[in-house]
Amino acid sequence: MEEIPKCIICGNPIQYKTSKGRYDKHFCSKACECTKEGKALVQKIIEKTKENRYGNPYYNNHEKYINTLLERYGVDSPLKVKEIE
Ligand SMILES: [Zn+2]
Repeated sequence: MEEIPKCIICGNPIQYKTSKGRYDKHFCSKACECTKEGKALVQKIIEKTKENRYGNPYYNNHEKYINTLLERYGVDSPLKVKEIE
């Protein structure tokens, strides 16, 4: 049997699925996720993920996005892509 993860805010077993249809890893409900602690934790997780992935917790994907646009379409704005299509 799979172990049911517990909510880090209230300690209840997590039976709440995210919009992607997967069980949330940290919260039992949207209400817990939206608490001050919950939000702070989500922010921390995001920063940790970015740090692991990019070596910078405050990495902004915008630059990469622009680079992708430039590579693919030769433009620096998604609005310009529309014009091309
Ligand atoms: Zn909870």
